[in-house]
Amino acid sequence: MSIMVVKVAINGYGTIGKRVADAIDAQDDMEIIGVTKTRPSFGCDLAVRKGFPLYCTFDEPERIAAFAPAGYDCKGGLSELLAAADIVVDCSPGKVGAQNKQIYEDAGVKWIFQGGEKHVMTGLSYTSSGNHSENMNQSGTRVVSCNTTGLSRTLVPLLRKCGSLSVECTMIRRAADPGDSNKGPINAIKPVLKVPSHHGPDVMTIRPEISINSMAVAVPTTIMHVHAIVATLPQGHGMTTESILDLWHAQPRVVIMNGAETGITTTAEVMEFARDIGRKWGDLHEIFVWEDGVKLDGDTLYYFQAIHQESDVIPENVDAIRALMGLESDWNVSVSKTDKAIATYNGL
Ligand code: NAD
Repeated sequence: MSIMVVKVAINGYGTIGKRVADAIDAQDDMEIIGVTKTRPSFGCDLAVRKGFPLYCTFDEPERIAAFAPAGYDCKGGLSELLAAADIVVDCSPGKVGAQNKQIYEDAGVKWIFQGGEKHVMTGLSYTSSGNHSENMNQSGTRVVSCNTTGLSRTLVPLLRKCGSLSVECTMIRRAADPGDSNKGPINAIKPVLKVPSHHGPDVMTIRPEISINSMAVAVPTTIMHVHAIVATLPQGHGMTTESILDLWHAQPRVVIMNGAETGITTTAEVMEFARDIGRKWGDLHEIFVWEDGVKLDGDTLYYFQAIHQESDVIPENVDAIRALMGLESDWNVSVSKTDKAIATYNGL
């Protein structure tokens, strides 16, 4: 029996787009039929090296024509790419997606947006462990932000075990991605003055049963976010610090390490660990939890976790495609298929 191979377009081949394209390319039930760039720039070289057909984000003939003099074979505009696609993963900069949604609907393709877009725009959001089944066969969804994905990874298994959860968390956010040269702060700590920040409440677009609020500060680092989380478990929860660690050990895409034993006590060492194990771009798809930073005191659970902002959402996009296309209804099966293919793949 031949399996269905889903034709995927990537609109916006930047930080997230290039990673999602690689992760999709590693799977046997989906393929990249093209990626878009707004103009000829160095990102086009990676697409060429990977053998991904290159398209222009726009349909205007003069914008398409601009690629050839720079030495790139541009196959056409976005409309031509969408005409051949089953689904598009929109990896455009945050808040740009809303204008693209109508284009996708007019082209009759399914769509996935990223966490820079609002839930009200898509009406549906996604994390693999949180609500895969609700996304089955839907026309489009939003893979939530790196922070919301990270919160969902550790809180959803706790919710399933305990039945209810009340959470307060502080997001210590990286100021910019390593490739960004025009963002800050570079020598300040910048509180997000919209209180609560959007991160915690965004988790409730996935699992409304989790009562959660958050505050955020941006700090001068580019490599990771850290979350300081305080969760109140319901009375009679029957959990211990050890049983919570066991729960997370059994959860895919969560790594737990003891800081004192391993010497991994900062985000710099977490990233070095990711590079040491040979992850492409030095990515860490997993959420990193410090074992010795986890403590359950009565009903109150305290823990820290680190988020590699450029990569934790990448495998979730693959699983979201499987949900929307109706390829796999069991989130655990999809997650293990996705992760196995990525782990055995040497695409560059
Ligand atoms: P990016 O700026 O690195 O890449 C965006 C790409 O889209 C660029 O290549 C840009 O040229 C292109 N683009 C510009 N206008 C476009 C348009 N109208 N249509 C299509 N493409 C267009 O941004 P990114 O960091 O990859 O972020 C993409 C999305 O992923 C955003 O919603 C963001 O919030 C979300 N996200 C980013 C991170 C992160 O840490 N970088 C993490 C999780 C989610």
